Amino acid sequence: MKMAETIRLVTSAATKARVFNQALIALLLVLGMTGCAHQRASTATANHCPKCGATLVHVRPGMTTIEDIREFAAHSKLPDRDQIVVDGWMHPGTYCPNGCYEVLETYKP
Ligand SMILES: [Zn+2]
Repeated sequence: MKMAETIRLVTSAATKARVFNQALIALLLVLGMTGCAHQRASTATANHCPKCGATLVHVRPGMTTIEDIREFAAHSKLPDRDQIVVDGWMHPGTYCPNGCYEVLETYKP
């Protein structure tokens, strides 16, 4: 009786583990696909301005430093470049240095 109960418990735990593993794999697949979709989107925008062909600059929190932003703004033709140099801040996104293209991105913490 006790033995049978133990076996049932073990079997049940094994089934749960299998279900959990499958759920985990499904979750990873979904995450992987979103990751790929994001990469595809990034590649689609390419690294050059669709209007003037200039190299686009990506501003990403935690990756782009204040110095990067100031450097980019100082050499850009953005209408608010002086303010950006003063602030050392730009909304995260992708910018054309000639100001003809910008895509703001929202990053969740
Ligand atoms: Zn441009």
